[in-house]
Amino acid sequence: MTFRLGILGYPLGHSMSPVFQQAALDHLGIDARYEAWPVPEALAGQVAKLRQPEVLGANVTVPHKEAVLSLLDWISPWARQAGAVNTIVHRQGRLLGYNTDSHGFLQGLREAGFHGRGASVLLIGAGGAAKGVGLALAYLGVARITIANRTRERAQELAALLSRHGPRTQVIPLEPEALGPAALASQLIVQSTTLGMKGGPGEGASPLAAESIPREALVYDLVYNPLETPLLREAKKAGARTVGGLPMLIHQGAAGFQLWTGREAPVEVMFQAAQRALAATH
Ligand code: NAP
Repeated sequence: MTFRLGILGYPLGHSMSPVFQQAALDHLGIDARYEAWPVPEALAGQVAKLRQPEVLGANVTVPHKEAVLSLLDWISPWARQAGAVNTIVHRQGRLLGYNTDSHGFLQGLREAGFHGRGASVLLIGAGGAAKGVGLALAYLGVARITIANRTRERAQELAALLSRHGPRTQVIPLEPEALGPAALASQLIVQSTTLGMKGGPGEGASPLAAESIPREALVYDLVYNPLETPLLREAKKAGARTVGGLPMLIHQGAAGFQLWTGREAPVEVMFQAAQRALAATH
């Protein structure tokens, strides 16, 4: 039997998961197909199909990461806390929900040698990704998280949540006059909006200029297309260390791969497949 896997979301035109997950399956000789399963609506019907015997599981992406919780049989404590599921595992008719995004984010930080305890962080964005990042940072024991978001209320909600998990929090406007001083006082700057993303409304835009980025800081942009975002270019100009969105993407996928197949994910194969596919989009 050929097993099946896929990603549920909409739109999925630019999703990298089918590319690097299929490369990993093929590399290990696992007889399975990983496909894009676009779901503009009627999520419940699509999720029910995951109970078919040949389905190992699925990824879930925008806009269904929150709505899918009520359709599953079990949710991991971390996914429950994040209020979002990005990985579903099918075990004998039961659907188990996990969130491996925070794991992917933390792995990217670890590889950059950032340990976090006591650090001051500037978090740009307050969407679904920012929530997972903020909880992961609280878990690491950072001292302070300053949140800047276009919609202030969303930043305030996230700040209230994160302050219940330990760090002191502060909300500032997403404007250069406020972002600059906050960035200069931070050891870690995380960009979790769609700014700088290829094909998006903020393509080519950086929330910070090099002058506002401390040389000692680590700058982490969750956007992975392009691989070098406008913010990362500014950070390099400032002499700061950088992490792009690809390590997070690959490591969240590698954690899912291990849950579905019980095999260690060939992370390097996954990286190379994604890098090749991204290079081909330029
Ligand atoms: P989301 O929940 O829709 O949140 C979008 C965020 O972007 C919000 O903070 C939103 O601000 C902000 N935003 C959107 N358009 C903007 C604009 N024109 N100017 C300023 N801010 C704008 O999406 P998400 O899931 O958090 O994803 C956010 C980004 O992270 C995406 O680029 C996604 O590709 C990336 N991401 C990467 C990974 C990875 O593995 N590397 C994983 C997850 C997400 P408002 O609240 O004001 O709307």
